[in-house]
Amino acid sequence: MKKILLIIIFTYSLLFSKEVTLQLPWKYQFQFAGYIIAKEKGFYKDIGLNVKLKEFDSTIDVIKELDENKIEYAVTRPTSMIDISKGKNLKYLATIFQSSPLVLLTNKNSGITSLSDFKNKRIMTSGDLSSDVSLISMMFSQGITLNDLVIQEPSFNTKDLIDNKTDLIASYISNEPYILKELGGEPVIFNPKDYGFDFYSDILTTSKSYLQNNHEEVKKFKEASLKGWEYAFSNINESVEIIYNKYNPQYKSKEALIYEANELKKLAYFNTNELGKIEPEKLEKIYNVYKLLGLAKNNINFNEIVFNDLNKESNLTNEEKSYLTNKQPIKMCISSDWTPFERLNKDNKYVGIGADYYSIIEKNLSTKFELVKTETPNEALDFIKDKKCDFLSLAVRTPLMQKELNLSSTIFKVPLVIATKLNVPFINKLEDLKEEKIAVPRKYLNIDFFKSKYSNLNIVEVENAQEGLKLLKEGKVYGFVGTLYTVSYRIQSEYFNDLKIAGKINDELEFVIGVNKNDEVLLNILQKSINKIDELHTKEIIDKWASTIYEKTIDYNLIWQIVTPFVLVFIFGLFFYTKLKLLNAKLSDQKKFINTILDIQPNMIFIINKTESIFANKFLLDFFDCKNLEEFQKKYFCLAQTFIQEELFFHLGKINDNSTWIDNILKLKSEKRIVSILHPTTKTTKVFNVSIVELEDEQYLISLTDISDTILKQIQLENKSTHDKLTGAFNREYFESHKNLIINEYTKENHLLIFSILDIDFFKNVNDTYGHDVGDRVLKQFVQIIQNSSRNDDLVIRWGGEEFILLLKINSIDNAKKVLENIRKTIAQTSFEKVEHITCSIGATVYRENETIEDSFKRADKALYEAKNSGRNKVVIKN
Ligand code: GH3
Ligand code: MG
Ligand code: MG
Repeated sequence: MKKILLIIIFTYSLLFSKEVTLQLPWKYQFQFAGYIIAKEKGFYKDIGLNVKLKEFDSTIDVIKELDENKIEYAVTRPTSMIDISKGKNLKYLATIFQSSPLVLLTNKNSGITSLSDFKNKRIMTSGDLSSDVSLISMMFSQGITLNDLVIQEPSFNTKDLIDNKTDLIASYISNEPYILKELGGEPVIFNPKDYGFDFYSDILTTSKSYLQNNHEEVKKFKEASLKGWEYAFSNINESVEIIYNKYNPQYKSKEALIYEANELKKLAYFNTNELGKIEPEKLEKIYNVYKLLGLAKNNINFNEIVFNDLNKESNLTNEEKSYLTNKQPIKMCISSDWTPFERLNKDNKYVGIGADYYSIIEKNLSTKFELVKTETPNEALDFIKDKKCDFLSLAVRTPLMQKELNLSSTIFKVPLVIATKLNVPFINKLEDLKEEKIAVPRKYLNIDFFKSKYSNLNIVEVENAQEGLKLLKEGKVYGFVGTLYTVSYRIQSEYFNDLKIAGKINDELEFVIGVNKNDEVLLNILQKSINKIDELHTKEIIDKWASTIYEKTIDYNLIWQIVTPFVLVFIFGLFFYTKLKLLNAKLSDQKKFINTILDIQPNMIFIINKTESIFANKFLLDFFDCKNLEEFQKKYFCLAQTFIQEELFFHLGKINDNSTWIDNILKLKSEKRIVSILHPTTKTTKVFNVSIVELEDEQYLISLTDISDTILKQIQLENKSTHDKLTGAFNREYFESHKNLIINEYTKENHLLIFSILDIDFFKNVNDTYGHDVGDRVLKQFVQIIQNSSRNDDLVIRWGGEEFILLLKINSIDNAKKVLENIRKTIAQTSFEKVEHITCSIGATVYRENETIEDSFKRADKALYEAKNSGRNKVVIKN
């Protein structure tokens, strides 16, 4: 009877399961193991689907079929974003490979050991730019173009490397290297991801319209597919057995399939523990490369093309509501000292990013969590086991946490940086360090992953940033890897004179909530309240805490590293590429093509020839609200004229000879080539990083990347601590901390540094007669006059009260006297609000080599005394 019932249920489920198609981009192999397993193990059947897997068929236009809902699902490449940009209605569900398996392969006896050996070598590639973007980008980044190579039709025969019929083959890292080894060769691999070009591959895709009508099915299909992948990667032998017996049209050996499985597993978990992860930011980065290469033009809403399967339903079920009322108190484990994420302050109050976040959650749920203090993540895990708390407020997504707890979706992510001593050069890539001892916080990082990724390093595990930075200061390790926030906070508060941030690392920490495994209900409740807090709000909270710890000075290195290399590589690459592509095209066509490409760049691009402007791209013209280059030249004359005279950045006022601004800015280190420009319509200040490429003799391509978001916040903070609030002059603290730099700068090239004190005459009377507020406004106006009458190089400092210091960089005492006299006269002639007339006395002196600033001050003060005593409204200069 039982058997019959089972059979009935079985046939019933078959009869009523829905048939859908999943189109694969190649023949069956381990590359599709997840789907094969989900089908064979019944994961699809469990959700009522009969999934038909279809192998690659060159006669089918997969994107079109998806778009027209002729098939339900497909595995696509990220180039399908180009189709999306042209209006195809696709939706991405998951990315199986976080980095593309596509690499360049050679045999060791070809003698090719680095990309620079590629010149004049033969290469087999599709020649289809769009499918080889990552390969081409990798070569460009090392100065190699397709032009330098002899391109051959692909034969799909790895043996050609052995037979010396070719030198390089575009290959899948999971297939051809194995074949080459089997043939007796020694594979040498060039992998784009080692050069920073990690493109997604194998994106599980459906269409927007299909999703709209089948939301629940799509969600379940994605889950079942990922379950298949998870099973396939954790049971490689069993999965290979299935594929070998049933899905093996290419007659691969078991060993080849196992090799493929292990290689692909690495790519699926590259830089993440989350299988199938797909991020709009990364899609955007990839898409920008397509744009740079002229493959795509339109803009895409990247958030919109990614399927978001978080349970958006935020209303609590009855079960969840009664959980909240009955299970009280709900206990939350927090770290007692993890600035700025969370800690208990002196008054035992919970503060930090977590505290702000939970105050919103508590309000949403109308409940209050009981805080349980812990010192380390390990202790927190023990507390969960001993039921001393129900969940961890903030956990980092690591395999350990994943094993021990139920994790929520990611709340926020934080970049990782490396700290070193001050004298260590800028670190571009962690991979570049050899055998150095690097301290890493054991529990916060995915330590095994980190170790295998950076096997070149000698990793020292530490408990936390405090311990790691201490070792660093004592010289026991070369560097410490931690989050940007914790590291900058500790450096600022404890190690300002010893340590610095030397570089950014290409990994991030993902913060999640970790709940006791037996408590599904609590996880759902917390997940629902996270869903309610939107991204913007989270960003606000993080910015608030992050800004309290930003370094006081601008971290040029970090900014440089974030924005510029990408831009530079592509500007180079672009030019080589267009040259190649248009070798045979007419000259005028070539120019048109280049201009079109430059027009779609998300940067301002300007080309000048000697001193004459010859091209400005659309982005630039739009920014300045000009129709064409002629209008721009009429309005602004030259690009450099638009640079704001801002002390912190490069501008024309900083040039004091006849050389061009290009010559001058090129003298600066690349990371300091920063200018600010006023946006003519919004009147906001924008800050740009300037990259310059010399195209040919005295012809330059200038690219300006907007870095306002990154830098403005830091400057505002800097302004607060270096400038006097009332008058906007520099404050005394600024002068004290920069005086050596200032002296060096001002006495350069045989200039004199004139040190002058300006003191308003009878200012007490102003306050007494007109009140303090009027006095304040007079002070403000007074500083403005000084600033307007001196040059940009000159420095105004509020020394205290109504006493100011003016530093002049000038070539003779006579000229200094002229400048100071002019200021005195202008003050006396200016009509001030209410007060009408005021005068000031000025005492000045010349800074003498090797004396202290205090010595100069004393002489200037004496001069001021003389000026006051001889009737005020006077300038006295003492040598
Ligand atoms: P003299 O320098 O010509 O000898 O006369 P004085 O009246 O300017 O002399 P003194 O240096 O004794 O007085 C300075 C006055 O400046 C004292 C104080 O009332 C005023 N003062 C200082 N700081 C501020 C400020 O921030 N705002 C205003 N409104 N007044 C200030
Ligand atoms: Mg005075
Ligand atoms: Mg005074």
